[in-house]
Amino acid sequence: MKAQVLHDIGDIRYEEVPLPELKEGWALVKVMAAGVCGSDIPRIYRTGAHVHPLIPGHEFSGQVIKTFSGESVWDGKRVGVFPLIPCGECDCCRKHLYEMCSSYNYLGSRCDGGFAEFVAVPEWNLMELPDNVSYRQAAMLEPMAVAVHAVRQFVIDRDSSVCIIGLGTIGLLISMFLKAEGVKRVCVVGNKEAQRKHAGSLGIHAEDYYTDIQSAGKHRFDYVFECVGKNETLIQAINIAAPAGHIIFVGNPYSDMDIPKDIYWKILRKQLKVSGTWNSSYQADSDDDWHYVLKHLSEGDIHPEELITHEYALSDIVKGMDIMRDKTEDYVKVMCVNP
Ligand SMILES: [Zn+2]
Ligand SMILES: [Zn+2]
Repeated sequence: MKAQVLHDIGDIRYEEVPLPELKEGWALVKVMAAGVCGSDIPRIYRTGAHVHPLIPGHEFSGQVIKTFSGESVWDGKRVGVFPLIPCGECDCCRKHLYEMCSSYNYLGSRCDGGFAEFVAVPEWNLMELPDNVSYRQAAMLEPMAVAVHAVRQFVIDRDSSVCIIGLGTIGLLISMFLKAEGVKRVCVVGNKEAQRKHAGSLGIHAEDYYTDIQSAGKHRFDYVFECVGKNETLIQAINIAAPAGHIIFVGNPYSDMDIPKDIYWKILRKQLKVSGTWNSSYQADSDDDWHYVLKHLSEGDIHPEELITHEYALSDIVKGMDIMRDKTEDYVKVMCVNP
């Protein structure tokens, strides 16, 4: 089969590789759509993956072509994929908090992922797609579940005011879910024209769109989602949180964070609740983030596919990765699609 193989930092090649071998309980999935995650860019160009050679890509959907046993209920099914393979033995796994597993495997960063014609996936990680959910939508299940995980840790009522700092995929998806839940005051901070357009189509009012963090600073919010991961935005998140407000750190940090004393005081005096969020909950068959997202998708009240700005064939997906690395064009979601 053909795949995009990462051999070393910055050395990704489109080449012929053997079909993945199936272990017991695993299925072979024909990849139909695979999104490029923001985290793939440093993985491919700056830090490398956990092992090389590796096929990256952890946001994908497809169809089960065969299973190890050959007689599984999954044969032929259209599926979305939870990319984390938990150890099953650590304390978090025993509590079914798999997103915090201490020794997990991960499709697309620790073992081969979705930038290939086929990928091997444990059946436990498969989610059947309803007929009205497209492969493109299902390739966005992972970032949507990450967004939902950040939101669902709180009971955010409709009259709360919320600010989302940073309008990459996750920031936009958080806004999308809050609007879908009927939260009236959702403000966003974004600095690209494409982001403004998407915010508008999510129903965010023009006056609630700030192009820089300073102009949001005049207001106070019950919830602030920090989706950038920079020192400047962390400080501003503390500034704009209302007394007794919540700050949720979502963005992966670019560098060390340094909080000046007068800003630190505000956490105390405003009695802020500061939370982190990581990954998403998945328990296969229950009320987890993934099933919550799939339900919204099948009911048609969210349209994440509108965030896809660039589509490529598998052979050309590196062009999209280069755009994300060099920021030569505005983008939200870059996706590799099997026609
Ligand atoms: Zn991702
Ligand atoms: Zn574990």
